[in-house]
Amino acid sequence: MNAEASANGAETYAAAPDGRPDLSNTNVREDLAMAGRCALVHLPTGRTCLLPLRHQGPCEFHRPQEAQDIVNGG
Ligand SMILES: [Zn+2]
Repeated sequence: MNAEASANGAETYAAAPDGRPDLSNTNVREDLAMAGRCALVHLPTGRTCLLPLRHQGPCEFHRPQEAQDIVNGG
């Protein structure tokens, strides 16, 4: 009898679902993400998207002061 099992042939993909190439020059502020915001940071300008998480349309980047107001509970 052949005891070789082929049950472990399942393939799982752990790749991030949001690997958008147009966001390659961005990062995410975790403090803003915890506040339910998109929180994407446009690194060249240092501005942050303050729209809700998974918002429709393009990001709107705001100044760091405005982002800090959100973190502080504003
Ligand atoms: Zn955004």
